[in-house]
Amino acid sequence: MLSASEISSLKGFDSHDRNPVVSLYLNLDSAAYPSRADYETELSSLISKCRKSALDELGLTRDQESSLDNDLRAIGEYISLQYRRNGARGLVIFACKAEGLWQVDPLKVPVANRLFVDWKPQVAPLVETLSSYEQLCVLVTSKETARIFEVRAGEISERPEILDRVLKHHNQGGWEQAKFQRRHEQQVRNHLKKAAEASLEYFRREHFDRMMVGAADELWPELERVMHPYLLERMAGRFNVGINASPEEILAKVTAIEEQQRQTEATSLMDSLGPELGSGRTFVGGLDDVLAVLNQRRVDLLLVENGFTKPGKYCPDCQSLEFAEETCPTCGSKARIVPDVVEEARELAIRQDARVMTIAVGNPAMVEAGHIAARLRY
Ligand SMILES: [Zn+2]
Repeated sequence: MLSASEISSLKGFDSHDRNPVVSLYLNLDSAAYPSRADYETELSSLISKCRKSALDELGLTRDQESSLDNDLRAIGEYISLQYRRNGARGLVIFACKAEGLWQVDPLKVPVANRLFVDWKPQVAPLVETLSSYEQLCVLVTSKETARIFEVRAGEISERPEILDRVLKHHNQGGWEQAKFQRRHEQQVRNHLKKAAEASLEYFRREHFDRMMVGAADELWPELERVMHPYLLERMAGRFNVGINASPEEILAKVTAIEEQQRQTEATSLMDSLGPELGSGRTFVGGLDDVLAVLNQRRVDLLLVENGFTKPGKYCPDCQSLEFAEETCPTCGSKARIVPDVVEEARELAIRQDARVMTIAVGNPAMVEAGHIAARLRY
């Protein structure tokens, strides 16, 4: 998975019309593409379709066209000769070798098949995918033992070193004292305290976004008592699980809770969208108004109905979207016709650090809003 700094340097990457940049999103989900031949076929058809429309739309010179063909060939060769799926469900590649760009990012979550050719990388689909999977710490504990896991974008990894360090530092004293008290209960309390300390130490190093706890219900009141407020305010859910559960089993519990929460969030956004649009203060709806506030860099959250697309105009220099003139009213550059201005809207939103959420088709609030809506920063 790409790091936050790699993603932010991709957001800032611009070839300044020197050479085209290829952004490939390939679905590798084995349910949809059981064999290698299946996704390779999909890739060749994506490539030939996008190559043709890029030549029509970008007006490439002979040199730029050969740079594009080099990148497309490199991607094809990489996927057929080098790449192994190894459980990945999606693959993202950004390539513009002439400008030194070659980024490969296998994902444990599926992505929709797309290939973009433009003067900059199209990072919105990647950022949208990753931002719906924040970094999550999972503490799994019994009365005697604890384990810490990190979960991000469908990947889970155990972090034994964090508990080891805390246990090493704190392992004196407690046992002697425990003899004089109700030994077992005291031991459980000590243990939970250490598990909470380890989680806090992990938070201080990694600044994870959210936390979940896997433990028997009876342990929760004591654990909640000894947990630092930093951790409690990030608590995103609890579940029951055995201490020896496999990472896959823990991941399944986490994913079920996250999915439930995503749906709850989308539902509550949709419930407030209609009334908010009516008052006109925090939300705007409809493509024209949404593009206008995106052009003003005022968007905090962009909601797009799944599959909504529309051709439009785009300024390659200042990224302004959709205007009547042939030249950009903001900077005077020549406008480009793009097959999907909604995709450019996602991209512009991501570049102004807004969140993008795709909403399932058929939601009355989205239909009424005009299939696209934006929440304003101010
Ligand atoms: Zn412009």
